[in-house]
Amino acid sequence: MDLNSMYLDELRELFKSNGEKSFRGTQLFTFLHDKRRVDVLNSNLSLEALDIIKNKKITKTEIYKIFESNLDDTKKMLFKLEDDNLIEGVLMKYKFGYSQCVSTQVGCKMGCSFCASTKEGIIRDLKASEMLGQVYAVENKFDIKVGNIILMGSGEPLDNLDEVLRFIKILHDEKGQNLSYRNITISTCGLADGIRKLADEKLPISLAISLHQTNDKDRSKIMPINKKYNLKSLKEALLYYQNKLNNRITFEYTLIDGQNNTDKNVKELKEFTRGLKAHINLIPLNPIEEFNEKRPSSKKIEDFKKKLEKENMNVTIRRELGQDISASCGQLRRRVKR
Ligand code: SAH
Repeated sequence: MDLNSMYLDELRELFKSNGEKSFRGTQLFTFLHDKRRVDVLNSNLSLEALDIIKNKKITKTEIYKIFESNLDDTKKMLFKLEDDNLIEGVLMKYKFGYSQCVSTQVGCKMGCSFCASTKEGIIRDLKASEMLGQVYAVENKFDIKVGNIILMGSGEPLDNLDEVLRFIKILHDEKGQNLSYRNITISTCGLADGIRKLADEKLPISLAISLHQTNDKDRSKIMPINKKYNLKSLKEALLYYQNKLNNRITFEYTLIDGQNNTDKNVKELKEFTRGLKAHINLIPLNPIEEFNEKRPSSKKIEDFKKKLEKENMNVTIRRELGQDISASCGQLRRRVKR
């Protein structure tokens, strides 16, 4: 494993088992994750300590291109990985600080019909170091501290859960960025088994579920994962999760005109969220080439929101940032690649 994907105790053990003091592991961890540096030859590690890691790898992730919005403070970025793969990220500025959208895989195998990130399938999983590298590259470049992380870039986080767990635990480590779990959101298309595994970790992170439809027949049409984990099994997993953590769960609901904003959807959504502490986040569809559907008008979006509220559901409409720098996730990378 590369050194910058390793936990603090693993690094301490690495030095100890090679006859060095374990505090060398803490020094290295701090250098990588607090100082956010990779040039270990310039660290305060002793020559003996450096010798122990001389054949070990430190993975680098660089910003390849930045696209800045003229409308707000949003920046979209392409990162370049060591094997020249490109991944996307977004940095958003809110009143309360910076929020960064991080990718977990190059491509995605989930095949949701409206999503640009999955159109070419999956290329590979990202390592924890490459997820951390996206955050550190942004913090170093703009001299900021990112206060909120959302795993909503390309990839399905629960399809790469081991590395994602490393990523968030290292970010949370007080000797690293010391980021609160609450400020990290994992978004999933609904891998029920992964949700249970995540629940067993009992990390008080925020969980977001990409729901987008309210019955199995229609959900399976746009989200193939629903054939493997239908709404019933998803709900069971969410009840299990809530039982362990009792956090509010966010449901992302991308509005597709005439498809999922009907009265039937209101009723089914009410039924699905019964017994869950739910928050519904309505996302106006960002059009992509391969998906020939539109978002509803603002009036229809407001109407749908009101109907849900009338049923006592907690609803917000996602504010759209950086509209001028290429719409939805996945499109930027493909445009540059072509
Ligand atoms: N794989 C994860 C995270 C990726 S995407 C997941 O499925 O949750 C983050 C969110 O953007 C998801 O809710 C996804 O469904 C949504 N999304 C994808 N393509 C979109 C589009 N064209 N318009 C609006 N939202 C989209």
